[in-house]
Amino acid sequence: MNPTRILHPPATLGVIGGGQLGRMFLQAAQRMGYTAGVLSETEDGPGAQVAHWSIVSPPDHLPGLRLLADRAEAITVEFENVSAPALRWLARKRLVRPGWRTVWVSQNRLREKTFLESHGLPLAPWRPVRTERELIDALQTLGLPLILKTAASGYDGKGQVRVDRADDLASAWAALRKVECVAEGWVEFACEVSVVVARGADGGAVAYPVGLNRHEQHILDATVMPAPVGPIVTQEAREWALAVADALGTVGVLTVEFFLTANGHLLINEIAPRPHNSGHLTIEAAVSSQFEQQVRALCGLPMGGTDLVMPAAMVNMLGDLWSGGEPNWDAALGSDPGVKLHLYGKRTAVPGRKMGHLTVLDPDPSQALARALAARARLQRR
Ligand code: ATP
Ligand code: MG
Repeated sequence: MNPTRILHPPATLGVIGGGQLGRMFLQAAQRMGYTAGVLSETEDGPGAQVAHWSIVSPPDHLPGLRLLADRAEAITVEFENVSAPALRWLARKRLVRPGWRTVWVSQNRLREKTFLESHGLPLAPWRPVRTERELIDALQTLGLPLILKTAASGYDGKGQVRVDRADDLASAWAALRKVECVAEGWVEFACEVSVVVARGADGGAVAYPVGLNRHEQHILDATVMPAPVGPIVTQEAREWALAVADALGTVGVLTVEFFLTANGHLLINEIAPRPHNSGHLTIEAAVSSQFEQQVRALCGLPMGGTDLVMPAAMVNMLGDLWSGGEPNWDAALGSDPGVKLHLYGKRTAVPGRKMGHLTVLDPDPSQALARALAARARLQRR
């Protein structure tokens, strides 16, 4: 594979993973004139619905990967839980971005934290938990409350337990089936922020403005960009996010989630080697969206502009909004013509499942959020 090769449209691109992130990548690629397909576990998922072609296969299944390598000239991933050996195998045949190493580091919290620490990046206090002895050590070092997280395959707060009493520690770990975990000290953060960066094949990297994130029940609920955190925190967050991408040598999009403490310190919570929910508003609000950057990096093109054309807010639409039946689209879309609706095409609404999002641009970021929240509130039928 010639890594300096530039792919122009209508070259064929492929993405592993057919959820909403895959779908928005495919849409960005198609808009630029590429042929874009997906390797997806389901025939009718968000990605497969819009793809030019799809291969139905688990992400690590060799026959599926072979078909993907036959069809796509360059391949990216929508999530980090693709096995590193599978990516290494693919990379012998095709351009694969981000590379296996970035994915391998960020798919396991132990590796991720060890890596970040070795590069002098600031983290919440943490200890590995792989044995009963390490569990006790974590409690003694971190104190309470602490949060136990499975090292691998967590998302949207799944695979996490907060522990408030020493007596509950053993049962919390048992509830996680005693798999390899990390324990983190509880951070009394003032707020959570994230930075999406994009790094090209030539090492040129760009960062979006900082996003302010609000979570409900450990699931992202809303993002406002730019975050009202002042110029120093803004600069620090963007520099650290760029430093992570550089240290990993990532080619592609990468997101760094931070806690901001009351006294103004940033701590890295976690990284994602891909576009991120907090970057969805860049579709309308930025010169180039995070998904366009993913296409550009994959194809060896220079990175696009990250400036905002206007401040913006995004609110997620979870399956809970469907609890009273189909949402009231008229009420949401009719009363504020600035509301941008994104639906991912998921057939069944389950509480906690991300079904879509709303984006609003407004010169005043807090107004953008208020309008997005108001639109979402109108959607819910009672
Ligand atoms: P996602 O993939 O959706 O970002 P995740 O399952 O990987 O979620 P984390 O990002 O680790 O999980 O945690 C989800 C949320 O839980 C955080 O954004 C934060 O609100 C809360 N949280 C996690 N760890 C801590 C901590 N150490 N102290 C305080 N709150 C925490
Ligand atoms: Mg997170």
